Amino acid sequence: MNSHQEMPPSHETKNLRDLADLRQELAEIESELAKIVPIEATATGDDVAEAQETRDQQQQIVATRKERQVEIERALIWKASHGNRCAVCDQTIENARLEADLASITCIEHRDQEDTVEI
Ligand SMILES: [Zn+2]
Repeated sequence: MNSHQEMPPSHETKNLRDLADLRQELAEIESELAKIVPIEATATGDDVAEAQETRDQQQQIVATRKERQVEIERALIWKASHGNRCAVCDQTIENARLEADLASITCIEHRDQEDTVEI
């Protein structure tokens, strides 16, 4: 037995941790979205432009959160059965890529295909 030989870090354990982190982020997004109360178009006079601007900003925030929500839900489905493997080439996704975005489902080389790849 070679005492210097160490077990590689378990991808399984890391994946479970990643899934937990993603679920946590998803829960935060959902509670954030639930708190956003749509601004009613009841403003008059000078308030109209201001209300419109706030409404636009709010819609922008909601759109961004929802986009992320979809991304995470997709990543959770993929990672539950495939772990941190690229959905295009089946290689293990680089740590640097996962650090940049835990919801990544492709390796760096295939990042352009992330949104279109069928899972
Ligand atoms: Zn790949």
